[in-house]
Amino acid sequence: VRIPDEKIEEIRFATDIVELIGGFVALKKAGKSWKGLCPFHTEKTPSFHVDAERGVYHCFGCSRGGDAIDFLMEREGHSFIEAVRFLAERAGIALPRPTADGTGAPDVRETVMRVNQAAHEWFRRVLRDTGRGAAARAYLASRAIGPEAIETFGIGCAPTGWDGLLTHLVRAGHDPELLERAGLVARRERGGGFYDRFRDRVIFPIFGATGQPIAFGGRILGEGEPKYLNSPETPVFRKGRGLFGLHTNRAAVRDAGWAVLVEGYTDLIALFDVGVRNAVAPLGTALTEEQARLLAHHVRSVVLLYDGDDAGQAAALRALPALLAAGLSVRVARLPAGVDPDDFARRSGAAAVREVLDAAPGWIAHVVAAASDEGREAQAHRVVALLALVEDSLTRAVLATEASAALGLPEALLRSEAAARGPRGAAAPEASRGGVAAAAVGGARAPRPAESGAGQRRGASVPEADGAHRAERGLLSLCLREPLLVPLVARHVRAGDFADPTLGRLAGELFNACAAGAATDVAHRLLNRFRDDAAMRGLITESLAPREDGAPGDRLAQDYVKKILTRRLGLEMKRQLEELRKAQDRRDEDAQLRLHRDYNDTKQTFQQIVNDLRIEA
Ligand SMILES: [Zn+2]
Repeated sequence: VRIPDEKIEEIRFATDIVELIGGFVALKKAGKSWKGLCPFHTEKTPSFHVDAERGVYHCFGCSRGGDAIDFLMEREGHSFIEAVRFLAERAGIALPRPTADGTGAPDVRETVMRVNQAAHEWFRRVLRDTGRGAAARAYLASRAIGPEAIETFGIGCAPTGWDGLLTHLVRAGHDPELLERAGLVARRERGGGFYDRFRDRVIFPIFGATGQPIAFGGRILGEGEPKYLNSPETPVFRKGRGLFGLHTNRAAVRDAGWAVLVEGYTDLIALFDVGVRNAVAPLGTALTEEQARLLAHHVRSVVLLYDGDDAGQAAALRALPALLAAGLSVRVARLPAGVDPDDFARRSGAAAVREVLDAAPGWIAHVVAAASDEGREAQAHRVVALLALVEDSLTRAVLATEASAALGLPEALLRSEAAARGPRGAAAPEASRGGVAAAAVGGARAPRPAESGAGQRRGASVPEADGAHRAERGLLSLCLREPLLVPLVARHVRAGDFADPTLGRLAGELFNACAAGAATDVAHRLLNRFRDDAAMRGLITESLAPREDGAPGDRLAQDYVKKILTRRLGLEMKRQLEELRKAQDRRDEDAQLRLHRDYNDTKQTFQQIVNDLRIEA
């Protein structure tokens, strides 16, 4: 479906970007804009800005930026169409629907979402079914999971048999190939055809940020392997992304300011039932770095509540590096040996759970206790290795004191060991902001726009290149913020005058958009134009950030244009002089005459510019 630009404008205009992003990131008002911790890289000091008036966001740490649509695409992995639809629906704006004649085929993500929805409805219906749902209902009853939790978490079940869901969905008109892409069915190895992936299992749906099921986790009902089975990666679901329970518990997590991290679906539901509603769980796997970072965007501290057996305690140890690298403060609760959070909550009740959570010691005590058989040296090494992951130097100092007491070793030694082992080594503590933690967590980052131009600049042998670059950035920034200046600027400068080709490209698009009459909304036209180019978008949103240069726009524009043109004409004169010298060497008098005239023309233009270039608004 092609959505007209005007429609996108309308949606953007109707969207409160602060409210939208505020649903994912805690934002605080700072002057004219809003600030928060960047959801795209790990940081302790907010460098993520949201500009309500212009409807854009920009992070000065990782240079990501864009509009509401870009945010949903980058943060939630939406396709462009999905993001537009989501915002349109939110704002009550009607969009052209996909048509049956094939001209507007919906994209695959959208279709997978729809088929997930249909599968989810069926799983829930089967659970209510007297015959096919009996075993699952008995299992849920045995775990004391009642109607309220079943409703809240959208629990369903898959019956025994090989093709219950397949038959149902195919009859409802869904293509089996698509069901395979959605991870609901698998292809038979022999004889062709498909079979249900989830059989004889209780189904726990996993919801995306928009509240629709994006994947399913299934726990086996009888004997069989594996005990837990999850959806594979699909166009709408990436493993290691998202947290179970975050959709349902989001408000409670945010209100509490800290979260309980449990391992299993049933643990989380049991806690929910006794009123502990700030819990989240990884999706059927060990906690990933991405999940830890996601958690860090909602809370500052976390209490691990894992099974009281060796496996549970070991799993808690494995979760520590990701949590610490994400900047979270971590405590590890202790349950009696052999007790899991589910049993504990059901048997002992809310007060006992709270007591265990409150009494949870810091992670250092847990690490020291877990390595007690290995001796003090091993304990120290483990603690130091984890300490090194803590980015915030103050927090690290506090933890070093704690570690010193727990290990009986000098604090200064632990601190220097941790500093030496830190991902940044001892080299550059200042460089730690964002970069290191992001590297430690392995986050994918967009290239910084500044870097794309930097290589070019350093390669060039023009001495005033840095000044020219500043002028180019300044001029673009000015034009984006005050598009009424563009026609005046475009009269003197062309895209080709820019030393940095990236900036030149942006300038060209900017001049064209304004010439086509998009002056008032040029920044958004450009964001739309560069939807797939994160570096370019970052450049645009950075340029839009408010400046504190007091000079009036036309005055600044004049200075920038002068700098850009003098650089360009300077190069031109240098080239012409070289040509002239060559012509003299080969005694080509015609060429000498022509080149001399050209050179004088350039020089004159140059003089004129230096003397009396005027850009007046
Ligand atoms: Zn960032």
